[in-house]
Amino acid sequence: MHWSKSALAALAAAGLAALPAAAQQAPPAPASRFVVVLDAAHGGSDPGGRLGSGQPEKAATLALSVRLRSLLAARGIAVVTTRESDATIDSNRRAAIANYAAAQVCLSLHASDSGSGAHLFVSSLAPVQATRFAAWKTAQAAWVTRSLALAGVLNSALLHGGMNVTLDRTTLPTVDSMTCPAVAVEVAPERGPDGQITAEPDDPAYQARVAGAVAAAVLEFRTEARQP
Ligand SMILES: [Zn+2]
Repeated sequence: MHWSKSALAALAAAGLAALPAAAQQAPPAPASRFVVVLDAAHGGSDPGGRLGSGQPEKAATLALSVRLRSLLAARGIAVVTTRESDATIDSNRRAAIANYAAAQVCLSLHASDSGSGAHLFVSSLAPVQATRFAAWKTAQAAWVTRSLALAGVLNSALLHGGMNVTLDRTTLPTVDSMTCPAVAVEVAPERGPDGQITAEPDDPAYQARVAGAVAAAVLEFRTEARQP
């Protein structure tokens, strides 16, 4: 979703902006709206890496985003995506879309032909207390602790799904500017015991299993977040 002027106008037309001032003050904040941002990395003029299947990374990340979006939407979770097509979108715009959505989970999706299973990355920024005005390039610092918790839940779900998982810290411009629990999820090939590739990152059945585990993790994270 791109939050175009027409989309915002549609929201206004739906009645939010038309409420009288007193009514706007009365209702409590919609406390339990749980929003997930899916960021299919690369796209357009940025193909990302090339996978063993011959496909560019940008196609695999978009396919995974589409799968995850429908799994989450089917469970009643609001999903905002940074792209729905083969579009060129810079990291600032991706983070801006995520931050505008005020999401509880932000997942930046990548694919790689090296390693195996799922590689989880959390920002390498040192955690800081939230401040009212955070520097754009390091805004994630206030969220790193929550991002590590999210990565832990993702790790468990992916392991439960029978996948290899690695967890690292890294510098990613998109994630570093996100003001939400944010994890980069990189899908690597599935490999047999001998190291031979048994499924490429864009293999549909493999992607379905990864998406299922990630969706389960999001639901678990939501449940944990709601406990007092
Ligand atoms: Zn990538």
